[in-house]
Amino acid sequence: MHKKRLVILGGGESGVGTAILGKQQGYDVFVSDKGEIKDKYKNVLNQFEITWEEKQHTKANIFNADVVMKSPGIPETVSLIKELIAKGISVISEIEFAVQFTDATIVGITGSNGKTTTTLLTHHILKNGELNVGVAGNMGDSFAKQVAEQNYDTYVLELSSFQLDGIVDFKPHIAIITNITPDHLDRYDYKFENYIASKFRIAMNQTSEDYLIYDADDEVLVNWLQKHPVKSKLIPFSLVKKLENGAYIEKQNIILTIHNKTITMPTDSLALEGQHNTKNAMAASAVAKLLNIRKQTIRESMSGFQGVEHRLEKVLKIQNVQYINDSKATNINATYYALESMTTQTVWIVGGVDKGNDYTDLLPLVHEKVKAIICLGVDNSKIIESFGRVADLMVETTSMDEAVQMAHKIAEKGDNVLLSPACASFDLFENYEERGRQFKAAVRNL
Ligand code: ADP
Repeated sequence: MHKKRLVILGGGESGVGTAILGKQQGYDVFVSDKGEIKDKYKNVLNQFEITWEEKQHTKANIFNADVVMKSPGIPETVSLIKELIAKGISVISEIEFAVQFTDATIVGITGSNGKTTTTLLTHHILKNGELNVGVAGNMGDSFAKQVAEQNYDTYVLELSSFQLDGIVDFKPHIAIITNITPDHLDRYDYKFENYIASKFRIAMNQTSEDYLIYDADDEVLVNWLQKHPVKSKLIPFSLVKKLENGAYIEKQNIILTIHNKTITMPTDSLALEGQHNTKNAMAASAVAKLLNIRKQTIRESMSGFQGVEHRLEKVLKIQNVQYINDSKATNINATYYALESMTTQTVWIVGGVDKGNDYTDLLPLVHEKVKAIICLGVDNSKIIESFGRVADLMVETTSMDEAVQMAHKIAEKGDNVLLSPACASFDLFENYEERGRQFKAAVRNL
């Protein structure tokens, strides 16, 4: 019998995971990467006897595909992808391919901010609830690789809009949309509605048996949902309004009601600080409740969660000054919540590659909480222009060491030093992780 040919474009974590799964499922697999494939992935491909090429896409080896899996990094607008689609070859994402080979319960989490935190928090509770649960997304082994090699009953998946763009039949049994603010618009014709529609693909195949958990305070999300109803059962969460179904806050408690059963959790018992994390906690505990995790386990998991590196990560206290690494804040919304969660005067390190930022929303918070702004970017002009009038003190620096030393000089007992750049990192760093690591190293050197 003719083996089906699976061509994978992109030899990174999701591509190589898909290759392993495809091979295991009897496909004739070929991996093609326009750049260089990392050695660790080449070794894996060789070990599984999977053919591959790098630094090119050889059309003869690609256009004979029955199905093409495209890595989320490759835009749909590149000519190769357009040609494949024009020829009627289906181009899908890793999750679409992999989900066919598992019967597990799928929890899918998307949104502009809070995906990783909510994914890891959800996984943490479900694991404590003794479910046989895997986690995949921006971290660790790909979903496809785990489907090939593990036998999980449940998966918690962090899903970017790019992953969702490549689905056809994929549906999570439980979906979360944490929030929607403009991001990655370069991939969506600079149209916010295209990006929103992409996020909502998470629910497009859901039925009335499935659940959609979402932020009911997010106007963009709520308006969209009114105009484009979904079949899923809705579970909203809110910080400001009382909800009979879903989660809300009353007297500093989270009140979560699902299927007429209620669980209460004091917000000050949550390990993760900040209002945004209260929302993440509401979403994660709603999943846990839907999957019948015990109340006590949910509460204990919430207070015991260690947090996630580079997301409001407390690094060290030096001379009673708390240093906080929020390097993952690469957009305004994330930094908004970081500043909002500061309970004391803050020296704020900000800057990098501006993604078309409008800093207006941050002005009141900066006025209230920030005692000094330390700019760390190649071009700081927009930050200087935006905050020049509200900041008492503003300095420009050119390296992380310099920024941290300057912060150390300025900060006084009881203050915070917060790295929350609101910008991408690649003017001075390889990526946000590298930026966060340099921050932590500089703090430890003080
Ligand atoms: P993502 O995976 O969507 O990028 P992360 O969990 O990595 O989200 O968090 C990214 C940044 O956004 C961090 O700086 C974090 O402090 C902030 N953040 C986390 N949760 C939320 C939320 N619900 N709303 C807004 N910002 C958030």
